[in-house]
Amino acid sequence: MQYELFQNFINSISLLTKEQLVILECALSNIRQDSSEKDEMREDADKNVSVSVKPPSAAGAFETTTFLPGFESYDSESSNKKTLPAAVPDLETNILSHFAECPQCPKCQSQKIGRWGFQSGRQRYHCNTCNATFNAFTGTSLARLRHPEKWNGYLAGMTYSMTLRPAAKAYGINLKTSFRWRHRFLEVINNDQAEELCGITELDETMFRESFKGQRKGLPRPARKRSNDPTKAGKVPVMVARDRQCHTVDGILKDESADELCRHLNGRISIEATVCADALLAHEKLAKKLGFEFKELVTSKGQRVLEGIYHIQNVNAYHSGLKRWISGVFHGVATRYLPHYLAWRRDISGAVEFNVDQFVRRISEHWSFQLLKGT
Ligand SMILES: [Zn+2]
Repeated sequence: MQYELFQNFINSISLLTKEQLVILECALSNIRQDSSEKDEMREDADKNVSVSVKPPSAAGAFETTTFLPGFESYDSESSNKKTLPAAVPDLETNILSHFAECPQCPKCQSQKIGRWGFQSGRQRYHCNTCNATFNAFTGTSLARLRHPEKWNGYLAGMTYSMTLRPAAKAYGINLKTSFRWRHRFLEVINNDQAEELCGITELDETMFRESFKGQRKGLPRPARKRSNDPTKAGKVPVMVARDRQCHTVDGILKDESADELCRHLNGRISIEATVCADALLAHEKLAKKLGFEFKELVTSKGQRVLEGIYHIQNVNAYHSGLKRWISGVFHGVATRYLPHYLAWRRDISGAVEFNVDQFVRRISEHWSFQLLKGT
């Protein structure tokens, strides 16, 4: 078990960017500083000497709880605990307040809603049209998830790719719950693609080996007995389009046709964008359909860069990072859950820093647009 924890830790660390490592170092130095200050305080108290010790800054406390959820009980006796709720919004509270602004019946989408008391601390509502009663979570991916007080900590772990077992241990939940929470949270953000790619945009496809990880019954092929022969496995094509501002649109393709690419990219590439991609008929057709400028690279003949700036090296690096992350951290993922991991990776590799604050906001936003969703 300890070996596995250590392995997961090493895998997570190896994926951190320079900035994240700096943040981690800062957080660790804060802990060291605080514990030495606490020791000093204890010593001073023992000596019955009255001293004033400057508490660590609120920003330091925020960083510690944000990036090191395993240490969330850290400093629980300290007065600076009061600063935490203001810094990190609580997911459940955020969702409840977003929903309360414009409640809507999950069954018939009516907005003729009345309040209907409280249950388990959550406001219940009554639909005057279909008589259904519900709360903000009814009918959503987060329905019937327990221990909302632990959600923020779990999300913080997800921001640095914490795996299921260490997360279960760190937050006092069981392994099945850890799995369920991961996929319920990811289900909410599953379709949050970049709204519009602009400027120089790189497009390329890559193949993932089809995986039935975790599935014991109903396998569409005989189970492999420790075989790792990639030629025997089915392949799943994954398309990634990414602009130079790190906005990403991706998707699992049913086939590699222009129509299938169009299904994922229609309305998501600015007509003023310049798209770099391999010289393939499907890409040419896509460019004609969506009307963007197309810079085609004949990579099979060793053409890597056009005019000094047009290339697909960033999107290829994104593919490699994605594959390393999936195989190195999670030891492969089931194909049916691959969309969730694509969504998770989009956020980790996005233009804005992916921290728990950002993650909570991203999830809560889905409760702000009930009206849009219903129409
Ligand atoms: Zn209703």
